[in-house]
Amino acid sequence: MYRSSEKVATRTMATTSNKQAWITQLVTVLKKKYDPAVEASGGTRLVLDEMVFGILREGTTRELAEPAFHTLRTRFFDWNEIRVSQLDELEEALGCLPDATAKAKRILGLLQEIFETTFSFDLQSMDKKGIKQAGKQIARYQDVNDFVVAWVTQQALSGHALPLDLPSIRVLARLGLLDLAEAEEANREALRGSLENLVPKAKGPIFTESISLLARDTCFEEAPACENCVLRSECSHGQQQTASAPAQPRPKSR
Ligand code: SF4
Repeated sequence: MYRSSEKVATRTMATTSNKQAWITQLVTVLKKKYDPAVEASGGTRLVLDEMVFGILREGTTRELAEPAFHTLRTRFFDWNEIRVSQLDELEEALGCLPDATAKAKRILGLLQEIFETTFSFDLQSMDKKGIKQAGKQIARYQDVNDFVVAWVTQQALSGHALPLDLPSIRVLARLGLLDLAEAEEANREALRGSLENLVPKAKGPIFTESISLLARDTCFEEAPACENCVLRSECSHGQQQTASAPAQPRPKSR
């Protein structure tokens, strides 16, 4: 859910700042804070692996998605064994991942559809189709959404795409980089397209991961912890939040 007060702050920011300069600045600050965590992340998986990982990663962090993916790949013999498994087995394997039931259903649906259309789980030929064509083909699967298309494009196809899930949209709107009205109405592909024009391709992965970590650490949906945020001095929403926060009571003088 987005609040109307956030929309006002967001629009003000969007019309008064240079978004590209702001992105350069925030990537520098976030890179300093989060680079080690992002460096340790993956990005070397096959297309199908990243499709499944994208489903796991949407709406949460890599930190939570990695163990769930690892369990899937070690507890089950192969993708086909996962395909024929029961929903509750898969759900249990995803552990404490948020929305585990919905994600398990999507993974089962995706594997079934791939199996029915290709009779195998080898999607590496997509690599040779070109990034745009591969993205279109991935998007045809019913359990794939724009986040997963963008995730696979960025992580497995070496393309320029910025996967946007709800936590990322929330943070980017507060930072004045997305318009919440558009986030609610426009399709997600168009929304990320405007952002992809502003973020250099080489910075795409760290941008994606850093924004996700910012959502986890300080930019919560309810009551963001702006006072602890590394972007507070430049974030208009953060400044508005801290300015309107009630003053802390002072200790009584003796
Ligand atoms: S200052 Fe506050 S609103 Fe701005 S990005 Fe940080 S936590 Fe979010």
